[in-house]
Amino acid sequence: MEDCQISIVVPCFNEEEVINTFHRALMSVLADTRRSFEICYVDDGSRDTTRAQLSALAAADQRVRYMSFSRNFGKEAAMLAGLRMSRGAAVALMDADLQHPPGLLHRMLELRQHGYDQVVARRDRLGEGWLRRTVSSAYYRAMGRCMDVDVIDGEGDFRLLSRRAVDAVLALPEANRFSKGIFSWIGFETVSFTYQNVDRAAGQSKWGGRRLLNYGIDGLISFNSRPLRLVIYVGLALAFAAFAYALWIAVEVIVHGVEVPGFATLLIAVVALGGIQLATLGVIGEYVGRIYGETKRRPLYVVRETEADARRGGTGPLPEAAAQPNGMATGTGRLRTLRQFSSFVTIGIVNTAVYMAVYASLNRWIPYLVAHVVGFAVSVGGSFLLNTYFTCRTKPTWRAFFRFPLSSLVNLVASGALLFLGVHSLGMEKNLTALAAGVLATPLSFVIARWAINSGTQHSGEKRPDWTSVPDRSEDLVSG
Ligand code: UDP
Ligand code: MG
Repeated sequence: MEDCQISIVVPCFNEEEVINTFHRALMSVLADTRRSFEICYVDDGSRDTTRAQLSALAAADQRVRYMSFSRNFGKEAAMLAGLRMSRGAAVALMDADLQHPPGLLHRMLELRQHGYDQVVARRDRLGEGWLRRTVSSAYYRAMGRCMDVDVIDGEGDFRLLSRRAVDAVLALPEANRFSKGIFSWIGFETVSFTYQNVDRAAGQSKWGGRRLLNYGIDGLISFNSRPLRLVIYVGLALAFAAFAYALWIAVEVIVHGVEVPGFATLLIAVVALGGIQLATLGVIGEYVGRIYGETKRRPLYVVRETEADARRGGTGPLPEAAAQPNGMATGTGRLRTLRQFSSFVTIGIVNTAVYMAVYASLNRWIPYLVAHVVGFAVSVGGSFLLNTYFTCRTKPTWRAFFRFPLSSLVNLVASGALLFLGVHSLGMEKNLTALAAGVLATPLSFVIARWAINSGTQHSGEKRPDWTSVPDRSEDLVSG
């Protein structure tokens, strides 16, 4: 498409509910502009039917192109891929959820004709909750002070870029991509106009609180090293305060003689210093981690297919099939189940030891039945967490937590029934039967424990899923 005038880049992650409506709205706006265009959709590893829908849209219209990632790599990676794909003289970045109204493209193109390289549509915060508004504006004020580039509240990724601005963005090689900062960093003539914020047309935002917090930290760290400088100031201030305090103590000793040593002061100083040192290490670690991420030089995303592959008829497996929730049918599935089961058994042994340790140490001080309940609760809680992280390799949810004790209950009932059967019906020895019943009931409780843990997740399996259906920001940005 040699003479393409506008490319529209749209990152999509699980947007099946809205993608068709968005596409229709966008097409009608683009038709009105009377310019040649292409739409570059990037499916960021959606787990719903987004990819199939994009493939159908591309099959129906040559001007629609798409790229699909092998997994969710994050919006930053998707935008980068879209910009790389784009061939237009101007490129607009838009969200798929209609929060970036396609109708505003007219205004953007008009401003672009005045020679602006970046035309930014800035949303207002009307209709947003009080808390979110306050936190956001405080964040942007703090960013304004800390960052070496201007990041303006409400100015996001919804913008139209000239080809040379796109080339400048693509020339930045960093793996940790913080677009808001990058757009500001490249410079060029920029103009913005404000539009009224709209709610998502359908589906859910992928930005939970934790993700926003991580994104905020990324913003602070990506474009400057001021946190490191702050740490130096804190260290110097503390050293100065310690020196003044030491002087004061020396004077006290000279004037009043040696007094009872201040244990509390000492303890507070040690703990406070320890905390500050740890926080400092954390700040340094953040930078070192980023350097590590950058040095790996990994690609920022992996492509599963593009519209060209689809036209050749070579589509990969559907995400649903690839995920294989419990993977029982395949060889890998069996291996996984075996690994999970041995992990479950090991954790069971560890937790029995934990229970014994808690029970034995507490029953000296509190009634033994209370000690038993505490030990049991600790071991169930521990078992839940360990099995979540190590057996199922996922993250805990409250729903899973409340379902998990069912596994212990089933174990109790099943092993009780087996014990009864062994002792009463078969006349077996009591201790040996109890052991055998425990062993025999373990697979059942494993299946229930795994179900409980996975039931809280959107999908299960070996791959570590993300709760808000979004991976850690650090991961997405580095896209390792
Ligand atoms: N998105 C993406 N990958 C992600 C998360 C989001 O491509 O990991 C896309 C999403 O499909 C949408 C846009 O980025 O088109 C903005 O996402 P969302 O609406 O969840 O963010 P919000 O508008 O709440 O900031
Ligand atoms: Mg949105």
